[in-house]
Amino acid sequence: MSDLQLSDIRKSYGSLEVIKGVDLDIKSGEFVVFVGPSGCGKSTLLRMIAGLEEITSGDLTIDGERMNDVDPSKRGIAMVFQSYALYPHMTVRENMGFALRFAGVAKAEIERRVGEAAKILELDPLLDRKPKQLSGGQRQRVAIGRAIVRHPKIFLFDEPLSNLDAELRVHMRIEIARLHKTLATTIVYVTHDQVEAMTLADKIVVMRGGVVEQVGSPLELYDDPANLFVAGFIGSPK
Ligand code: ADP
Ligand code: MG
Repeated sequence: MSDLQLSDIRKSYGSLEVIKGVDLDIKSGEFVVFVGPSGCGKSTLLRMIAGLEEITSGDLTIDGERMNDVDPSKRGIAMVFQSYALYPHMTVRENMGFALRFAGVAKAEIERRVGEAAKILELDPLLDRKPKQLSGGQRQRVAIGRAIVRHPKIFLFDEPLSNLDAELRVHMRIEIARLHKTLATTIVYVTHDQVEAMTLADKIVVMRGGVVEQVGSPLELYDDPANLFVAGFIGSPK
């Protein structure tokens, strides 16, 4: 669990500024959901937090320590993507342990952590299967398992459910809420699904065109949207 702070964060690709000064204070243990139309900069922001993309200017701090130039593997962050490419030739167990093996974690410790994650995600019976023997929802759980075994202080999710059908999405949404409770961890989550945002979030961040339009609890945004754009996005009648 960690605090995360963004202070006037900006990102340019060449002369095109795509993130235009984002300030945000995320508290330890909070579930924060970013929403906003395609292209507004949600993924770019997440990738900067993870360290997969350089921050053009501004400060990113975790628990008060500036992280802008810290190696991704040393930020205490794990990210789950929309396209959860599992290694097809590896079993579920190997897929979940791979990053740890790569990082030189001892075999017994890897086994312990994979077992722990499998229990949380109810993957025990599937540990020896290959990805092609799994359903979409099971594959997504393995992708989340790969993040859990790293014992991150902060989880980043980039539209993790958008490749699943509607029924499975509802089911996985409940699982992710349960995961947040079980692990008592800080989660930053991107979605374009309003229902997902309203049900999962402690705090919703509405973005448009590289800026934050409004930050608030689901109820605050619903009851008192700052403008028509937020109202339209959240679905309230203003
Ligand atoms: P979102 O995740 O909200 O759909 P993105 O963060 O993917 O939005 O993209 C934000 C903007 O940045 C878009 O206009 C996109 O075209 C642009 N962009 C993203 N990555 C690059 C890149 N590598 N080079 C140039 N422009 C990019
Ligand atoms: Mg995106």
